[in-house]
Order: sequence, then structure tokens, then C-alpha cells
Amino acid sequence: MKKLEYISTRDENKKVTASKAIVSGLSDDGGLFIPESFENIKFNLDELYSLPYRELTKSILKPFLDDFSEEQISLSVDEAYKDKFDIEELVNIIPINNSYLLELWHGPTSAFKDMALTLLPHLLTASSKNINENNEIVILTATSGDTGKAALEGFKDVDNTKIIVFYPKDGVSYAQEKQMVTTEGSNTSVISVVGNFDDTQNAVKEIFNDQEFNNYLFENGFKLSSANSINIGRLLPQIVYYYYSYFNLVNNGVIKLGEPVNFVVPSGNFGDILAGYYAKLTGLPVNKLVCASNKNNILTDFFTTGEYNIDREFFKTTSPSMDILISSNLERLLYDKLKDSKAVEALMKDLKENNFFKLNPELFKEFLAEYATEDEVFNKIKEVYKSNNVLIDPHTSVGVVVKDKLEKELGEIPTIILSTANPYKFPKTVYESITGNESSENELDLQEKLEAITGIKRPEPLKDLKNKKVNHSKNVTKEDMKNSIAEILIEEK
Ligand SMILES: *Cc1c(COP(=O)(O)O)cnc(C)c1O
Repeated sequence: MKKLEYISTRDENKKVTASKAIVSGLSDDGGLFIPESFENIKFNLDELYSLPYRELTKSILKPFLDDFSEEQISLSVDEAYKDKFDIEELVNIIPINNSYLLELWHGPTSAFKDMALTLLPHLLTASSKNINENNEIVILTATSGDTGKAALEGFKDVDNTKIIVFYPKDGVSYAQEKQMVTTEGSNTSVISVVGNFDDTQNAVKEIFNDQEFNNYLFENGFKLSSANSINIGRLLPQIVYYYYSYFNLVNNGVIKLGEPVNFVVPSGNFGDILAGYYAKLTGLPVNKLVCASNKNNILTDFFTTGEYNIDREFFKTTSPSMDILISSNLERLLYDKLKDSKAVEALMKDLKENNFFKLNPELFKEFLAEYATEDEVFNKIKEVYKSNNVLIDPHTSVGVVVKDKLEKELGEIPTIILSTANPYKFPKTVYESITGNESSENELDLQEKLEAITGIKRPEPLKDLKNKKVNHSKNVTKEDMKNSIAEILIEEK
């Protein structure tokens, strides 16, 4: 069979192996790597439905990573998912109201990004070996809060790697910041940036595309790579839980194998939901993929009107990991729909120069989109708690609000809502919603109070945050980010 190659969304003549795509992160033409075709990647549901999570992961990754040996995949998965999760099967599916919550936050940093970021370092190390990359890999990451910590935990003390995380100083929650700046490990750096997430992410993208700077680093023994969802190695492990949760409903008699389900995905950079789209392309019976947004509802507008317009107000919300105007992974969907890198490039050029592009919304029939206001997010947390005795975080609440708003469109088909963070990561909003009282107390104290009121346990890693030592405190402007990388890697050597 023909080898699977990865192409750039901005140049389909550029073809690389999976290993090369993972090590590179971004293509040097600014595009994102995607499988050249999904035609030969079709999963047989009958063979997969009874597999435990780790084995399912190996089966799903295999055709995507076809320059990996089976042993490399197997060892990577076993090592990554060994004992970092607080439940045996990594994820949990619980019924609420008349749908299902897929809890993806049982990993080390209590957000769904752990599902991929525990695995990525292992995939990257194997990839590096496969392409004989001798330089030290430097993970450069912009974070809206959760990626940063998950990547730091994943890469901390991994041989022959360094990780540098940039986050917007005022764009992450107190607990998120605290989690990041208390990170240990001799190869980790965490730096805050003046500005919002889009500024930080754009600056990181520019650094990736700065050939001169990359050459300079290369001559000094370093190769930049990305742990953001622009890296295809981040997306692939996320396909697995779509299959797993589907099979869970099958195995519990909710649906028969082959019957469709809907997924509601709280979205920001569009990586998580894109993995759902890839699940659909590879054979999972998905009816609708629902793109759920917060008040920054650019994706809702895009899917309903076809217009992607970033000339709009940016809001800081209680679901900061979704406070994004430029959703990087949308580019991958655009390529899949247009199958024409020149057209994608033109759209991205429009976006850069005119802050705008437009497509026919009919192209995206398998998607639905809706958003939640801050009031709706706030009230839904309490409502879900009262009626189900379940705490949800503000991101998950966006998903539940949107599910309820689209009740009619989703019909009788079972709906799985992705629960993307543990509620104790955002204790202020959750506490205030549940009690109806405003509080100016420290978020870490509120975690304790919330636990006392509800009897619902906090995850272990969030418990001792208060007493942890701050190891990182640097703050820079976006113009200074490049310098600080050079300082960390070269000038300090
Ligand atoms: C990152 C994140 C999201 C958004 O996921 P994308 O892949 O960026 O769309 C939603 N919720 C939480 C808690 C997150 O950390």
C-alpha cells in the first residue's frame, strides 16, 4: 500500500513523513501538516469497539504514523498513559440531563490537553530518531492557559528536549498561571507576555517562520518544534476519545454499532473539534459536530454565515482557553473542503491583510455552531449541579448551554458533550455560580470551600498549588520574545 504522506495546507506538493511533520510542527511555508488523503484510513468499528483505551489508541495511531514501527507506537502509548491519569481508562462518560458528558480531564493538569500532551513527547522523541534529527528539540508554545501546563508536564525532564512556554499575562486564570510558574524541571521556561492570546500566538508563529532565526538556533544545536495544536502530533491522539466515547454508548446499549451520535465541542483553536472531524472522516458515525463558543463567537458567525471576520471586539471571559479570534486549525478544515492549497493560501492572505475571508457556509453541513453568553455559562453551572450533583467548569458549561440551545436541531440522536476541564481549575466562577455569592477570596481558598460545600473531590495535583514555589517570573513584550529564547538557549549556555 502507498505510504501515507503529510502535505502542507499551503502547498500540496510539499510532502513529508509523519515523523518529519511532528518534528517540524509547522510547515516552513506557514501551512499546517495534514494527511494527504484519508482514503486509506478507514477503521472497522467491529474490530475496535471492545478495546481498552490504550489499545484503541495504538490501533487508531497506527495508520497515521506509518513510518513508526509498531513497537515505537506501543511503547509511546504505554509510557505516556502509564500512571499519569487518576482513572484506569483515562476518560469517563457520565449521563447528564438527556445527554452524555465525556470527562477528558483526568490527567496530570486536569484539562483535556493532557490526552495528547502526555503522548506528544514520546511521539516526538521517536520521530526525531526516525528522521535522524540530531539537534536538541526545543518546544516553543503559546498558551491560552491549559496547553502550557500540560506541555510543561509532558516535556519536563524529557532527555534531549527543552520547552519554552509563553502565556498572555492577563489572559489566563489565577490557578492556570500558578500551575505554570511553579513548574519544576531543568529544561523548562515559562514567560508571560504583554497582550492577549492572539498576540502571543501570532508572535510564536512568526518566530517559527523566521528562517534567519531558525538557522541561528540550528547552528547552535537547536531545532524548534511546537506542542500547540498546529502540531499534527497533538491532534492524532485526540481522535481516539471520539471513538472511545462512541463505543462506550454502544457497549452500554444506548446505541447499536453503526448508529450515529452528535458531539458538542467547546472550541477555541479548533483542534479538539477537528479531531472529531477526522474521526468522522475515518469512519465514525457522527451526525453533527457542534462547535460551541463563548462570547468570542467568531466561529459561530463563520459556520452560520461563511464570514470569518476578526475585526471585532475581543472579550476576556470566564472560559479563557476559548478566548481566541484566530482559530489556527480551521485552516486544516478549509483545506479538506477546498482541496486546493492555493485557495487556502489566498484565504489566509485575506485574513492577514484584510482581517476577513468568506466562504459558502453550505460547505460545512456536518457542523452546527452556537455560542453561550457569560450569564448563560454562569447559570448553567448551578443548574447542572442542582439537577445532577455534577460540577462542570465554565468551558464545559459553554458546551452544555449550546447543547440545550440546539435541542431541536440535534433531535433524538444521542449527544456527547466534551467536558474539557476539571471544575476546580476555575474555582471562582464555579463557586460563585453554585453559591450565588460573589467572592474576592484567593482562588485556591475557593477550591477548598467548594470541596467542602459539594463534597466533590479536588484532583490531587491542584491541591498543593498554594504552597508551591514560584520558579518562573519573567515578563516580556511580544517584540522581546525572540531575544528571550536566544538568551535561554544560547547566551546562557
Ligand atoms: C484548549 C481548551 C479548549 C479549546 O480547545 P481547542 O482545541 O483549542 O478548540 C476548550 N476547553 C478547555 C478547558 C481548553 O483547555
